[in-house]
Amino acid sequence: MALDLYQYIASIPDYPEKGIIFRDISPLMADGEAYQEATDRIVAFAQDKGVEMIVGPEARGFIVGCPVAYKLGVGFAPARKKGKLPRATIKAEYDLEYGKSALYMHKDAVKPGQKVLVCDDLLATGGTIRATIDLVEQLGGEVVGCAFLVELAELNGREKLKDYDTLALMKY
Ligand code: IMP
Repeated sequence: MALDLYQYIASIPDYPEKGIIFRDISPLMADGEAYQEATDRIVAFAQDKGVEMIVGPEARGFIVGCPVAYKLGVGFAPARKKGKLPRATIKAEYDLEYGKSALYMHKDAVKPGQKVLVCDDLLATGGTIRATIDLVEQLGGEVVGCAFLVELAELNGREKLKDYDTLALMKY
């Protein structure tokens, strides 16, 4: 029997601000069976896509993406905040509720033509994943799918991912 992964998501009302329900994936990561099942479901989604590389944004994208990379036997490249990567980088900006933020990748992190699966813990407005996709595409990579543990459906992040095959294991 497949595990009910919803049981491993903690919902915290009024965090980080009043009116927001924060979905915390740490109980899922803390349970070996649940973490493995979530990883295996993403691996199954990726299986026939010819994935050659996983890319995930800082920091929980690493938690989701790295075990998938290990299982598929492919590499992982991080998309990181300013000042974290030591060599030549490219940049993609995205909008926050107030102001802008940016993610960076090493210029040689993805090879032209490489098939990439983009992973993060959670899809909200889609700004973070869109910036990650932009970085991969700037480098000439081909995004063959996007995978998340959780999607906050009412924030319509999927609108930004219309052109991509997208998996979310849980939806709120
Ligand atoms: P977006 O850019 O609006 O889609 O927000 C997604 C990013 O914000 C992801 O990288 C998440 O890690 C983080 N995030 C937003 N809301 C939550 C939440 O409720 N729980 C955990 N992470 C969240």
